[in-house]
Amino acid sequence: MAFNKTNLHLYFLLWLFIVPPGLLYAFFNFFPQTIEWDRFISFTILALLTSSILIKFNGKPVTWTMWVTMAVFLHYGLFIELVISQLTVFVFLIVQKSSIHVLKRYFINSTMLLIASFIAAISFYLVGGEVGTTVFWLALVSLAVYRLIYTIVNMTLVKLVLTAEGSPNYLSVRDVLYEYWNVVLLLPMALTLYFLLNIIGNAAFLLIGGTYLVIALLVRQYDKSEQVNTELALAGEIGSELTGLTDELKIRDQFLEEVNKLFDADYLYLFKSHDDWLEQVRAIEDNRFINNNFDPLPSGWGIAGKVFSTNKSILYSAKKEWNDVALYINDQDVESILCVPISHNDHVEYVLFLGSRRPNIFKEYQLQIVDLLSSYFTVSLDKAKYMQKALTQSEKCALTNLYNYKYLETKLSSDMKNYEQKKIQTLSAVMMDIDHFKRVNDTYGHECGNDILVAFARLLESEVPTGATVGRYGGEEFLFLLPDFDKSEALAFGESIRKKIKETTFEIVPDLDRERKPVNVSITASIGVSTVPDDTDEGMTLVRNADRALYIGAKQAGRDRVAEYIR
Ligand code: GH3
Ligand code: MG
Ligand code: MG
Repeated sequence: MAFNKTNLHLYFLLWLFIVPPGLLYAFFNFFPQTIEWDRFISFTILALLTSSILIKFNGKPVTWTMWVTMAVFLHYGLFIELVISQLTVFVFLIVQKSSIHVLKRYFINSTMLLIASFIAAISFYLVGGEVGTTVFWLALVSLAVYRLIYTIVNMTLVKLVLTAEGSPNYLSVRDVLYEYWNVVLLLPMALTLYFLLNIIGNAAFLLIGGTYLVIALLVRQYDKSEQVNTELALAGEIGSELTGLTDELKIRDQFLEEVNKLFDADYLYLFKSHDDWLEQVRAIEDNRFINNNFDPLPSGWGIAGKVFSTNKSILYSAKKEWNDVALYINDQDVESILCVPISHNDHVEYVLFLGSRRPNIFKEYQLQIVDLLSSYFTVSLDKAKYMQKALTQSEKCALTNLYNYKYLETKLSSDMKNYEQKKIQTLSAVMMDIDHFKRVNDTYGHECGNDILVAFARLLESEVPTGATVGRYGGEEFLFLLPDFDKSEALAFGESIRKKIKETTFEIVPDLDRERKPVNVSITASIGVSTVPDDTDEGMTLVRNADRALYIGAKQAGRDRVAEYIR
């Protein structure tokens, strides 16, 4: 999320007009009669520790600070409750990861907590609640009301802020269930702490506070392993999507997008390795592909260069750990860095760099997940390359690397479709057959015949007009398909290429000859031309006509000439 200055000012003003006056008002009206400092400090420490333990619920990190602050409220009343819960805001700012600016978060959280505390306290008094009460049922009912109102106010404020920020928001059934569960669990704990303090004194902090902290830490540990499982499952899904793609660039971009999403990075760079340097090939900043080409990075230089030269991953949690190593990121607001080699058969092919503005973002276990994703990435690239090659091979002739008969057939029907849809006005076919090629084979050997065919193919390729196609139709027969060439243009084209062939000499080394001296061979070709719509309206007939023109008009008339189809 971009750091919006206008909003920050607005939240600051709201905070200024609500929080300090609210605290002052509470100070003068709700200051407790006595404060035992050891108890106050114990409450504060317990509240701060509790708010430092984040537990994931329904995918969102939550803290259960309220069981402590409710006991504080019942014990000391509004003012001390406000002081302690305002202190927990600072802890929350540190432990809660967010891309929203820290000051803005402080103003929002601090203001919301204060408003909720005030309104909840009012409702507590309205139902007859008493701070410092020793009557259990009164404490239970009034604190339940306090908690209920607090939750309603808090949820409403959160919704208001999210709407003002333009974030999509809704309360799911699970969110409401969480609040309910929260009350059922936290209310008894708050009451237990409160009453236990009256019976056994400050030892209650250890007895229930200590127990709570241990359990919370265990739950958080469990959360973490759940997180690993979730990320592994996601990595598997991403992998199977990647291997389904056949386009190299699409695979690369999707891989980067998914990694970016999974790891919540602010900066993501992909480097491709060359002999001893890295080239930056793709970059994402703030969830968008951008062009910011870095200079080539020599192997061993900077963070990515080091990863490249050592083939080992690097994980940094804060800027001070990498400040003297980095080359290009000094002026950026990066803190956490995860940089991994993507290697294939022990050779580093890419280096992936992830950066975050927040410290302690990337975890050790995520290295393995990136590793897994990287293998999917290289396997997908390999598969795509292989498929692309297989596809090209199926369209090309293995000897001359010209398009083959099968491809010419497909191209002919697509050209005819264009003609039918009036995208082109004419389509000409120019068929050619090398004259007396059997003699070439007989004189110099089949191998030399092959060499000539290959060189001949290069000659034809260099002559093919843009938008036109040339292919090997059969043994020493070749076909040009010329969209938007009328009959006379096609005849002129045939004539120019006939001349080129006649003028060209093909150098071969005869394998039948013992001395293996290079020989220059000249050849000629006979050419037939037919055109849609002059001669036919049908694709296959067009080619057959060109073939007939070739045999009757050119070969039979003495070879080395161009002939048009005549009905
Ligand atoms: P013309 O077309 O002028 O009538 O004479 P030609 O000798 O070219 O006659 P024909 O079309 O009957 O023979 C084609 C020859 O082309 C037969 C074959 O030896 C040769 N040929 C066809 N394909 C290949 C190939 O892939 N390599 C080699 N070396 N020769 C080929
Ligand atoms: Mg021939
Ligand atoms: Mg032939």
